[in-house]
Amino acid sequence: MSNDTGVEQTLVLLKPDAVARGLVGRILMRFEDALLKVVASKMVWMDADLTRRHYFDLEERFGSAVYAAMAEFMQSGPVLAMVLEGVDAVACTRKLVGPTYPDQAPPGTIRGDFAHMTQAYANARRIAVANLVHASGNADDAKHEISVWFAMDEIVEYPTAAERFER
Ligand code: ADP
Repeated sequence: MSNDTGVEQTLVLLKPDAVARGLVGRILMRFEDALLKVVASKMVWMDADLTRRHYFDLEERFGSAVYAAMAEFMQSGPVLAMVLEGVDAVACTRKLVGPTYPDQAPPGTIRGDFAHMTQAYANARRIAVANLVHASGNADDAKHEISVWFAMDEIVEYPTAAERFER
């Protein structure tokens, strides 16, 4: 969804490390605090097919070893998938999440505050970089990823309290 008001939707996954560490509430709070609205959500244990559909270009970008490590990580526990909606939602969500490698993510970002794994550490151990959150990279990716994860009728339209009472 995108229109002339700049309101758009983006896909977010709270990865297995975020769920296993009990960080769902604290991470979600950051998105809600920034006025991003949850319009769809579900908990999913990813299988090989969904991993391939979600990370369809990861093997090409990083090679088969990183892809295999990511597949193992993403299938190691459930993820919480959600669609967030708001003004400039794609960029806003990426800003709150921070850069890919947690050691490079500044304090105040989700990855910077809750993780510190380096790329070198992950590569040496042949594991995925556990960085808590996936967030769509751009509007086209968001549209595609939302269609991978959610059927149209799983995305809900409703007014927030601010929309109902403060406008
Ligand atoms: P982002 O999630 O920030 O958009 P990318 O799309 O570039 O980052 O990478 C997808 C995911 O792959 C990252 O979030 C991270 O979990 C994992 N990853 C990226 N680079 C590596 C690497 N060198 N080794 C292991 N895992 C990696």
